[in-house]
Amino acid sequence: MKLNNKINKIVFIGMGLINSSLARDLKKYNFYNTSTAYSRRASTREKIKNLNLVDIVESDCKKAVIDADLIIIGVPVDSYEVILKKIIKYIKTGAIITDVGSVKKEVIKRASKIIPKNISFVPGHPIAGTEKSGPESGFSGLFKNGWCILTPGNNINKKDIKLIKIMWEKVGMKVDIMDADHHDLVLAITSHIPHIIAYSIVGTIADLEFSIKKEVIKYAASGFRDFTRIAASDPTMWRDIALLNKVSIIKALELFKKDLNALEQAIQSDDGEFLFNLFSKTRKIRKDIT
Ligand code: NAP
Repeated sequence: MKLNNKINKIVFIGMGLINSSLARDLKKYNFYNTSTAYSRRASTREKIKNLNLVDIVESDCKKAVIDADLIIIGVPVDSYEVILKKIIKYIKTGAIITDVGSVKKEVIKRASKIIPKNISFVPGHPIAGTEKSGPESGFSGLFKNGWCILTPGNNINKKDIKLIKIMWEKVGMKVDIMDADHHDLVLAITSHIPHIIAYSIVGTIADLEFSIKKEVIKYAASGFRDFTRIAASDPTMWRDIALLNKVSIIKALELFKKDLNALEQAIQSDDGEFLFNLFSKTRKIRKDIT
């Protein structure tokens, strides 16, 4: 596939928040000639049709990928294996498969047992999103100014990697190429642990006695509200992320628990200096990010 040529057929496997946002932008930028989306539920297929996101909506993933030049997987990471096993025989030589999944090492390990050498797999992760799900929640511009991380293996054709890089740049992302292990550790710290903490805190409140829970919800200020927003993220997607990125998440959780213990200890022993220094350090991090 020549880089200057437009993609002829693009196929979206799954059309949730991320793939539908990408479909909206790629359509706008004229990135392909024809587009197909596969979705397993009839209700989702109906939404995709009504939103006019692609040319063809398929209920059969095998049929969807026939003649595809580029296939973008956008389903929860634990479901890749089953889908790849179904579609792989129907994908033509020279096609490129990429994905948007939040975990990379385990996904690559599983996918590389299924994808033959004549098909390129260029794993990707756009660092953008919201707590919402489904094609109706996607929107054009979601990826603007964000980072996308690609984690291709050493044996992947450079021009296929470049094509995926160009695709993400077209929708406004800056692209980094990284080792899958490193990606999973960085994302465990920046995204997966904050989600796990939010699920834990909101879960604690959910288990409180009814009258206290009512008051907590009634007087929820911004701090708790922010946690509830994060903890409203899709349960299937986050179950899969937690289990497939187990090693890095546990490593990051150990660090977090150590620091939480130190914080508890400082409060217990009225160590105001420790608290002030920590809160000053964290305030500076926020200033550096924004
Ligand atoms: P989503 O809005 O919940 O949509 C997921 C889609 O996957 C649904 O349309 C669903 O199709 C399909 N699906 C779910 N389980 C499936 C299965 N077992 N077999 C076949 N299809 C299945 O999800 P999303 O937020 O777009 O996330 C998609 C991927 O992007 C995930 O791998 C996630 O890790 C990654 N990601 C998410 C974010 C984020 O903030 N949301 C950010 C970056 C990356 P039906 O409706 O037809 O069942």
